Amino acid sequence: MGPLDTDTLLSVYLALSGLTALFTLAGGWTTRKPGLWLWSGAFMASLLSQAIRPEITELWGVQASKPPGHLGGVLQALLVLAGMRAFLGLRISWLGIAAVFAAVAVFSFTLLATGQTLWWSLSVTQAVAGLAMARAAWLAWQARRSGGSGALGLMGAVLGAAALVALARAVSVLPIGMSTARLNVANEHWLMATLLLVVAEGFAMLVLVNSSLRDELAKLADFDPLTGLLNRRGLRSRLERIMQAPIPQHARPDMAVAVLDLDEFKGINDRFGHQVGDEVLAEVARRLHAGSGPGDLVARTGGEEFMLIWTAAGSQAGTVGEQIRALVAGSPVPSQVGDVGVTTSVGIATGPWQGNESFEGLVRRADHALYAAKRGGRNRVVQG
Ligand code: GH3
Ligand code: MG
Ligand code: MG
Repeated sequence: MGPLDTDTLLSVYLALSGLTALFTLAGGWTTRKPGLWLWSGAFMASLLSQAIRPEITELWGVQASKPPGHLGGVLQALLVLAGMRAFLGLRISWLGIAAVFAAVAVFSFTLLATGQTLWWSLSVTQAVAGLAMARAAWLAWQARRSGGSGALGLMGAVLGAAALVALARAVSVLPIGMSTARLNVANEHWLMATLLLVVAEGFAMLVLVNSSLRDELAKLADFDPLTGLLNRRGLRSRLERIMQAPIPQHARPDMAVAVLDLDEFKGINDRFGHQVGDEVLAEVARRLHAGSGPGDLVARTGGEEFMLIWTAAGSQAGTVGEQIRALVAGSPVPSQVGDVGVTTSVGIATGPWQGNESFEGLVRRADHALYAAKRGGRNRVVQG
């Protein structure tokens, strides 16, 4: 490979940063994710800090053009970190970011003003940028380990690599006993790596945002927005997963299904308004959720209809049904118009696990039991 030329590399860096800034800007525009706005800002910061160098060179000389470029790298890394925090829903300390940036800027411009070598400025700014990138990589990894998507792992790896490159560059350009020529060569090689990482960062950011959009869509498709409970579709897909788990039939305790339909709910809407009706539904859902165990499934299957499935408590279904009824009807629901009394009818069916048909059969029996509970005067549990 022929000698690498810093100015050419910086031009390529400028073009790539510009393109990545545009991609992430377009991503921020279409997805409205605050993290992407900040990441777009990160690439724009490095783009602008390089773009203004020729003008500064013309006005104040080539030395004066260096600190803005160095500081652009710091601003970029700090904005990448801020974007990561925004993406993960963490608080961003703008005061802290401003303080770090100001301290490094004062250092760089003091070197310039006192006529000292600016290699120190590059080294310190790269070290600070590396630490900020390392922090962002760490946050991505932590989020990945606590159940985040694989895209977070990719982001953590790319940011980790960017952190290592920045820290290595910081060390490699330390002006201790090295000729300017050797410092330049070291810098060019690391600049090349930085340049490739800009592309990788932009790529990882877009993959991450796409994957989080996909997760959000999956959540919208499986959960009811008013109560946060599973909807019919979400219930079905989870149930299929449980049914297909490799557990022998004889090791499965009976399954129990309860269907609930709130009593005279239209009356609550008519008397207090639809909004109060919604508050009651949300509170009933909260009570049902709080009253069930970690392996149970709770879903809102219709307007004021709920379904509970115990996959391992069939034999206790009789008592559990009464507990569920009492959870809903035991105390009135506080709302914006005061306490609202609500009761529910419950139909319950229990039976062994025998593929999907048996589940449909259980639900049919539970439904019939629910009708019987309604006919029998409401606010009661009937076993089907
Ligand atoms: P029953 O005891 O026979 O079940 O009487 P009911 O009034 O509860 O029965 P019905 O099924 O006729 O009425 C259910 C009502 O639930 C009708 C509808 O206005 C209300 N509802 C359905 N979905 C929602 C919702 O999302 N929010 C509110 N506020 N009301 C809803
Ligand atoms: Mg109904
Ligand atoms: Mg009803």
